[in-house]
Amino acid sequence: MLAQTSVPTPKESSLFADARTRLDRALKYVSMSEDALGRLKYPKASLCVSIPVRMDNGSLSVFQGYRVRYDDTRGPGKGGVRYHPNVSMDEVQSLAFWMTFKCALLNLPFGGAKGGIALNPKELSRQELERLSRGYIDAIADFIGPDIDILAPDVYTNATIMGWMMDQYSIIKRKVSPAVVTGKPVMMGGSQGRESATAMGAYYAIATLLPKFDLIPEQTTVAIQGFGNVGGILADVLWQAGYKVVAVSDSQGGLYAEQGLDIPSLRQYKAERKTMKAVYCQDTVCNVVEHQTISNEELLTLDVDILIPAALENQITELNAADIQAKYIFEVANGPINSAADRILEDRGIYVFPDILINAGGVTVSYFEWVQNRSGLYWNLEKVNQRLKERMVEETENTWKIGKELDVSMRAAAYIHALNRLGEALDAKGTRDYYLNGH
Ligand code: NAD
Repeated sequence: MLAQTSVPTPKESSLFADARTRLDRALKYVSMSEDALGRLKYPKASLCVSIPVRMDNGSLSVFQGYRVRYDDTRGPGKGGVRYHPNVSMDEVQSLAFWMTFKCALLNLPFGGAKGGIALNPKELSRQELERLSRGYIDAIADFIGPDIDILAPDVYTNATIMGWMMDQYSIIKRKVSPAVVTGKPVMMGGSQGRESATAMGAYYAIATLLPKFDLIPEQTTVAIQGFGNVGGILADVLWQAGYKVVAVSDSQGGLYAEQGLDIPSLRQYKAERKTMKAVYCQDTVCNVVEHQTISNEELLTLDVDILIPAALENQITELNAADIQAKYIFEVANGPINSAADRILEDRGIYVFPDILINAGGVTVSYFEWVQNRSGLYWNLEKVNQRLKERMVEETENTWKIGKELDVSMRAAAYIHALNRLGEALDAKGTRDYYLNGH
């Protein structure tokens, strides 16, 4: 049996209140009008719905769903839909807040939004999941749209679910509306490269940043928490680039091998058997290799060069920040480090590369998908990845430059960069000065 130690929960606090402290810290370095700031402190619109679903056994279950459009000054809201038991208005609001800054940071013509349903999707049949996903769209159809708010996948949602959602929206509107949802199956108007986009974007950022610290892949050890869509693909991409991925984990626990794990074999095994094992596979024959089973908590505190949280928020808090041994943390998950831990890590000289930059590849290719849906002209994988790389490298370099110039952390630099763009857009609608003094 794997050890089942869970990550301790920090002091009861609102995730959103904690998320907003990042804004306060960056504000010292940004000249922003009070009006603009006031607008960014609260979400523009929040919707809470109940979704009745007829279950396979004939009973009726009612699920709680949410959609928050945080800001749409720079364009329609954009953000994923999460299926998880912990989904709440507080979490969705925080995720929508991060999306607002992420889209501005990557200079995408979108605001920030997010949605979710509180449930354990593993307890539902495929048919029940489809009825739930279509029911969610029935409930929020008037709140979303290709020019209002665009959906995408997040934790425990995928291309199939996005396809159902797009289809349901099209049925309601009586016209095919692919641009309301991104991350769809390619055959339904999805973009090439969307599934791997978040992982590829993270890889381009990592490959841009590590040479600044004279790190080379072959001598760099990596631990990744979360082996899902993003964590699994990123593990593979890093492994192919020569990095030594020594530990990975999923919700069941983790695996550690000092000599490095054979990531393609692990992915093959997990895809076939839905469970993780440290194996080496040749064709269909997989043999277990030397390894240790570890808990998720142990993975976070391993002595590795790079730690990549790629699962859920609040994994590194004031309770375990002092035990982190990695020198560089790349936040692939949204909000895996709380603000109290941020300070501890900074004091200890650990570099944190923030979520709004590192995982922005997903929304960037979602933007490409939206553009392709609206133009009707579709790009090949090479073009998608080339455009993703250009944007990730450019904004990673810009953020790095701001960090160096102002001598602030990469997180503060990312917020400063995004705030500058958001502030300019908000002020373009008119400021106090404009109305009082005519300029
Ligand atoms: P996913 O559902 O494909 O994978 C989630 C993974 O986390 C799974 O391996 C699951 O077993 C694991 N997990 C769940 N609970 C865990 C726990 N307590 N400890 C350790 N592992 C746990 O989701 P994903 O799409 O890979 O998203 C992962 C993270 O990346 C999320 O924070 C999400 O918001 C963020 N993200 C995703 C995208 C995207 O395009 N999918 C884009 C930007 C950010």
